[in-house]
Amino acid sequence: MGIELRNITKRFSSYTAIDNISLSVKSGDLVALLGPSGCGKTTLLRIIAGLELPDTGTILLDDKDTTWLPPREKNVGFVFQHYALFRKMNVFENVAFGLKVLPGSKRPSGGEIRDRVEHLLKLVQMEWAVKRYPSQLSGGQRQRVALARALAVNPRVLLLDEPFSALDAKVRQELRRWLRKLHDEIHVTSIFVTHDQEEALELADRIVVISKGRIEQEGTPQEVYDHPANAFVYNFLGNVNVFHGRIRNGRIVLGEQHQLEAADDMKNLEEKEGRAFVRPYEIGISRLQSKGSDLQGTITDIRLLGGQIGLEIACEGFLTPIEAEIPRELFKNLELGRGEKVFVALNRVKVFAGDYEI
Ligand code: ATP
Repeated sequence: MGIELRNITKRFSSYTAIDNISLSVKSGDLVALLGPSGCGKTTLLRIIAGLELPDTGTILLDDKDTTWLPPREKNVGFVFQHYALFRKMNVFENVAFGLKVLPGSKRPSGGEIRDRVEHLLKLVQMEWAVKRYPSQLSGGQRQRVALARALAVNPRVLLLDEPFSALDAKVRQELRRWLRKLHDEIHVTSIFVTHDQEEALELADRIVVISKGRIEQEGTPQEVYDHPANAFVYNFLGNVNVFHGRIRNGRIVLGEQHQLEAADDMKNLEEKEGRAFVRPYEIGISRLQSKGSDLQGTITDIRLLGGQIGLEIACEGFLTPIEAEIPRELFKNLELGRGEKVFVALNRVKVFAGDYEI
């Protein structure tokens, strides 16, 4: 089931929550709507589900205009941020609910309902819990039951609104991988909302980055991560050093003395304000100067970041410290410590012209 949104706009009083969004989702894809809090992700999801009506625009499901259809006629499965299971029903009853309330002609027989619920509970690896009540399950288990419940009515589209955000980091990561595998098995066209860029990058076939009700970029995780369309996307997709400067003669000049080559050609850009972005792991640290463009700095802070070491380095001529991430092995070999002097190479610099808000 493909989804097509055409020029969707939604206002709440004078506030424009969705600003002329158009988007195509291919049948069977798992798509992430990624953006900061308040950017309109949930509103867009609710509009697709029919829980909210757009002011203008059209929603096509498999080329059929469904803009004005009530939610139950759209046949869309929804999983919310907070477990919306019925507290007084056990797991079996929760999953069977959507089937039992179907109108007579569409309602399967008791035996068919049992088979379908058992099949779904196996799919989400919760078959052992048929008789349990939601209060007897962990948060992750409840979300898996919620997913089985959403899938029970064979939805044409599955919509997930930050389904794992209330869970701790480890469970969230497990469920993410599990959901990806499940999606590869059942291939139901799915859209999930997240403000967690790692979750979007790991899980989605395509990512739609949204800011202030508009799409900033749409593409595969690799396209969006490796080729951010603008400063907002670069900044939003993970930790990054941002330097303000002036683009001049094909380079960006930071302060008076530091000129940087950018990853992209800037020769055609006229002289103007610009910003240089460098991700922490794209920064080289050494004891010896290898290039004239290396910066000199002093380590002011050291942090353990799992497999990497995070360094904060105060560099001459830079107002804010530069953040670098280096492998633990290199950190050990260089025998680095707080207060030590190092040379810093900004290896892959991405420059965006302009000084707009990010
Ligand atoms: P979050 O990640 O925090 O859930 P979001 O990107 O999902 O945020 P939405 O819930 O879509 O954001 O809200 C977008 C904007 O629209 C917000 O500024 C919000 O305050 C506003 N908004 C949403 N629903 C309503 C409503 N029913 N009435 C008025 N304003 C609303």
